Amino acid sequence: MYMHEVTYDLNELFRMNYHIHTTLSRCGRKEMTLDAIIKEAERAGLTEIAITDHIHPGETAKVFRNDKLLRNELEHIPHTVKVYLGAELSAYGKNKYTLQYSDFDRLEYRLYSHNHYQMDGWELPDEQTPLSYKQHMKLCLEKIIKSGKADCMAHPFLDNYAVREFEDRYPLTVGCVTSVWTDNELGDMLSLGKEYQCAWEINTNAIRANPEFAKRYFHIGKEAGVCFNIGTDAHTLNNVDTFASYKIIKEILGV
Ligand SMILES: [Zn+2]
Ligand SMILES: [Zn+2]
Repeated sequence: MYMHEVTYDLNELFRMNYHIHTTLSRCGRKEMTLDAIIKEAERAGLTEIAITDHIHPGETAKVFRNDKLLRNELEHIPHTVKVYLGAELSAYGKNKYTLQYSDFDRLEYRLYSHNHYQMDGWELPDEQTPLSYKQHMKLCLEKIIKSGKADCMAHPFLDNYAVREFEDRYPLTVGCVTSVWTDNELGDMLSLGKEYQCAWEINTNAIRANPEFAKRYFHIGKEAGVCFNIGTDAHTLNNVDTFASYKIIKEILGV
């Protein structure tokens, strides 16, 4: 389990970027080699980064192939920034998550996404309504957090992917699911993460997509004393530098 010291000082948090994709993710650009990422992170003055390539439902074997590849590569790259080799794993349904086996400890950083509803193999709620999505997210989050396997939750609570999946057929809009979470429910879930040493991501894209929710999320989380990790979800080199979005995130969160 990896967790940095809890702080709400954005200047400190932004020195870490715990969500970066390499060419090993289908969506990662060609320029996203480990070497280039490390150089860019050091140029930007980051102190810690985590590599988090996608492991979609049914791809568990890929985790360790990727890990081995990156580990070998890293050995030959001189670097001063701390590099965690992890993965963006899938918690793709109630009690369904990649890496359910005992050797999960080999990964240095297990970032789990619970809401890639647009992906093949992802379990959907019984009904495509905001309340059903909330209920489904709640159950999935509870299961993965209580499993003790997650170091952090990626873009948590975000409903963009649910909306994208159903926008043709259902009148769902961005924020329709996040808005049915009450402050108490949010506080309980964030505290559950704290109890199981699971950090919560401040995903710079997610925050811009839903500023109103982001503000609630940050302040309720802070109140509960949770650990936040910054992640830019970088798929391109110019997204490695967290400080590029520092000002706007600070403004949105109102800190
Ligand atoms: Zn994701
Ligand atoms: Zn990602």
